[in-house]
Amino acid sequence: MSNETPLERRGLMLMVVSPSGVGKTSLTRRLVADHQDLHLSISATTRAPRPGEHEGRDYHFVDRAEFQRMAAADEFLEWAEVYGNYYGSPKGPIMASLARGESVLFDIDFQGAMKISAYSPDDAVKVYILPPSLAEMSRRLHARSQDSEEVIAMRLARAKTEIADWGRFDYLILNDDFDRAYAELAHIYHAERLRRARNTWIEPFVARLTAEKI
Ligand code: 5GP
Repeated sequence: MSNETPLERRGLMLMVVSPSGVGKTSLTRRLVADHQDLHLSISATTRAPRPGEHEGRDYHFVDRAEFQRMAAADEFLEWAEVYGNYYGSPKGPIMASLARGESVLFDIDFQGAMKISAYSPDDAVKVYILPPSLAEMSRRLHARSQDSEEVIAMRLARAKTEIADWGRFDYLILNDDFDRAYAELAHIYHAERLRRARNTWIEPFVARLTAEKI
């Protein structure tokens, strides 16, 4: 096989789920920055941008009418209502990355991850990021002071129910140390890319290899 020919691969859909305030955004943004063959799926949302968020980088910020138009036109792989706002994963860029043999990372909620993995079980890899404790999660939510007490209580209650369903994930990472948690996430991505079924170059390569005259 020549060095110039890229190996034929099938990309994966890496879903990273966690409650808010567990450091998921920092982990996923770094993984994407460190890997050229991994693209972040930029969701559309009806929620307002937070300070520091940019259109097209963090989300596509749309109004409800536009979101409903996109949903009706079947432009989402999945969509969901989360805390009163709509979020959806636009199909077009996801399918384009997969068709190039590249992978897509979804920073998505629990229900979205389950929908995508039901739709595409062979391509989906589901990772859940665990907080060291609910007390630490609560401390981080208070420290970023984005939510009311009521919303924080809702997020904590929801985290408890989600975590009880941990058996539905392929991998669980405990984020009590950012560098270790990041290393684990990167290892998962690397090993999943190497799975036999995703490396479509192997079969023709082995056929040629075993046909070699020695
Ligand atoms: P936030 O408003 O804090 O950015 O996101 C709230 C929740 O919605 C997070 O758990 C986030 O991962 C999730 N989310 C973001 N985009 C999507 C999406 O396209 N689909 C689904 N189902 N959840 C999403």
